[in-house]
Amino acid sequence: MPLRRDPDFAGQRQGMVERQLRRRGIHDERVLQAMAEVPREAFVPESERRRAYADSALPIGEGQTISQPWIVAAICQAMELRGGERVLDVGTGSGYSAAVLARLAAEVISIERQPELARVAGECLAELGFGNVDVIVGDGSRGCPGRAPFDAVAVHATAPAPPETLLSELGPGGRLVAPISADGADLRTVFTREQTGFRAAVIGPARFVPLIGDEGYEE
Ligand code: SAM
Repeated sequence: MPLRRDPDFAGQRQGMVERQLRRRGIHDERVLQAMAEVPREAFVPESERRRAYADSALPIGEGQTISQPWIVAAICQAMELRGGERVLDVGTGSGYSAAVLARLAAEVISIERQPELARVAGECLAELGFGNVDVIVGDGSRGCPGRAPFDAVAVHATAPAPPETLLSELGPGGRLVAPISADGADLRTVFTREQTGFRAAVIGPARFVPLIGDEGYEE
């Protein structure tokens, strides 16, 4: 896949992998490799480009943000992808998380409720040569019925409760990683589909924007 190489950013990208990810417990070598390859600078507006590898979320317009690199890596690591999976990415935003997932799985369907963000992200992904990502506009809290089932689902916005429709779209053994609101915090939670139901494990807190939609929060 032809990723654009910019030598000015290559060193910053490697520094981000070592200092922000490896030192904070990201150990899945496939995730570290994907984060070392995807040019984050291509997914932020021109005005934010010099801060592309800052250890923080950054504004991308429409009142939204590209997530902190460590958050993207932690979500991807929790999905335990091996390469052959079909993945749903809820909350495309800039398209950065979809790009990282595209390096880790066979096929990515990424859904964004804001049409302008979806358009810009889709163009950026196409320009960078990510042919295995499909960006669609819609309310991801309702899942993506036409494309289910999925081996894994990543949700990049906080849901008020376990997202029932998205969970129902997981195939056997599938994993869904989502921040769930509980006790005033956003708790990153991994749901695994087992024979008798779902196992849920909280992997840590983090702050996210709200999931807006039918099975999320009201706008
Ligand atoms: N993954 C993104 C990236 O790499 O840039 C960051 C996403 S940003 C933190 C969360 C995104 O979720 C926003 O773009 C927001 O518009 C979107 N969003 C919120 N509710 C949604 C919903 N119900 N369906 C789809 N997208 C939603």
